[in-house]
Amino acid sequence: MEERSGKKIFGGIAIGKIKLYSKTENRVVRSKVDDVEAEIKRYEEAKGKAIEQLHGLYEKALVEVGEANAEIFNVHAMMLEDLDYTESVHNMISMQNVNAEYAVASTGDNFAEMFANMEDDYFKARSADVKDITERVITILCGGGGSGDIGDEPAIIVAEDLAPSETVQMDKSKLLAFVTRLGSSNSHTAILARTMGIPALIGIGYEDDWNGKIGIVDGYEGKFIVDPEMPVLEEYFKKKEADDEQKRLLLDLKGKENVTKSGQKINLYANIGNPGDLVSVIENDAGGIGLFRSEFLYLESENYPTEEEQFLAYKKVVETMGGKKVIIRTLDIGADKQVDYFELGKEDNPALGYRAIRICLTRPEIFRTQLRALFRASAYGNLAIMYPMIISVDEVRKIKEISKSVREELAAEGIAIGEVEEGIMIETPAAAVISDELAKEVDFFSIGTNDLTQYTLAIDRQNAKLDAFYDAHHPAVLRLIQMVCDNAHKAGIWAGICGELGADVTLTETFLKMGLDELSVSPGCILSVRKVIREAE
Ligand code: PEP
Ligand code: MG
Repeated sequence: MEERSGKKIFGGIAIGKIKLYSKTENRVVRSKVDDVEAEIKRYEEAKGKAIEQLHGLYEKALVEVGEANAEIFNVHAMMLEDLDYTESVHNMISMQNVNAEYAVASTGDNFAEMFANMEDDYFKARSADVKDITERVITILCGGGGSGDIGDEPAIIVAEDLAPSETVQMDKSKLLAFVTRLGSSNSHTAILARTMGIPALIGIGYEDDWNGKIGIVDGYEGKFIVDPEMPVLEEYFKKKEADDEQKRLLLDLKGKENVTKSGQKINLYANIGNPGDLVSVIENDAGGIGLFRSEFLYLESENYPTEEEQFLAYKKVVETMGGKKVIIRTLDIGADKQVDYFELGKEDNPALGYRAIRICLTRPEIFRTQLRALFRASAYGNLAIMYPMIISVDEVRKIKEISKSVREELAAEGIAIGEVEEGIMIETPAAAVISDELAKEVDFFSIGTNDLTQYTLAIDRQNAKLDAFYDAHHPAVLRLIQMVCDNAHKAGIWAGICGELGADVTLTETFLKMGLDELSVSPGCILSVRKVIREAE
């Protein structure tokens, strides 16, 4: 038995098999096999499994990103069934007596090169697909791994680090917990863990021989126990039972109002990063969606998502939420959220760099596509739009001009749009300080305390070494929140918090006293915040 301590990201107890997740590419070695029939059978089984995975990915993507994006997985499945590819693998195994991994890797290289040398751009592009399917089969032959692939069994995922794009691809029904060596508690991967309501720890180094062993994640105490002795395991089974019971008690709060004993009400909304999170939004009885991070559409694509793809994703969310408010934040890419096809380049200070609204205002074609999709989707529910990383009135006026021209363009095309509130995130000290002026320009403020804390305290939220210094309770941050709330109310607009601080129940009473109108938190935190609101005077 081994016990290690790390930093808590999301509470909860998980008990299950450890799966070491590695994003390193599979290294294939050539080896000689005696039983070629058995090796061909091994290949065929891996191929079948890969096709099964691809069909599963198609179904998942269909729900999360729409048919057009999902189709790629069907194409990959068809490529794996291709006779030439299969024949090449079979021949190599039987004629050269080589292992399946080597035969697949060589076939993949040959086919990828053949496609890359073709004149036609369409066929050229298929080269990347061949590499992708080849890697998938090799991964299966090597026994798992791969980007976002966490295998078929429920598991505690232990990794060096996880990128947001990998995390979103993981099959949430198989994720018992996350444990990573790197990462910080304010990174987007940590936020995703909270959104999914999955126990998570960071700052825990791991050993290769942990794979397959039983692990216990104690997200409350920040403990990770490997290969527990029987009494410890029994103790944790009991703790897990009690924890599940507590969660069931919280469920009694479903359907209840967010109202204090003296009758003060506050809206309690959910933060999501993916339409797949809607299940937990509904399960946890959120009053609406206070922050829908639209980046998932860009992170999961290999190219800019089209207007139609975006429209379908937004429409699905507003339709699912019925008449409840859905605040969709426009693209906030850059800093820790890198997308290759944006070609953002390396920056010395990415958090202070080319990101979010700065990209949208300098590359209006990307911004207009997203706005068209959002306004079109607004006809199907209660959609609001929010703009991130604002620092000036001038920016807001430019945004409003673009937004107006997009609405006019849609009207000229005869496309219906709904009533759309347009607000901004207050996540820079500059925006907080001039919030009196900004309030005259917009319909609402949503305070992004994750970035507001980072920029106010000059603490990189991604830097794990600085976690102890990242104090979101710092009086400077709290004063800015109060100031933003007061300035909003003076201008007759509402103000809420959508950063992680909104879920900090030690501050719920403070936020109520400040007069905030809304708190938007991870779906798994809604009921515990509601409990504190209902117990407040
Ligand atoms: C924030 O900065 O508080 C916020 C909600 O935005 P994100 O965490 O996505 O940067
Ligand atoms: Mg932010």
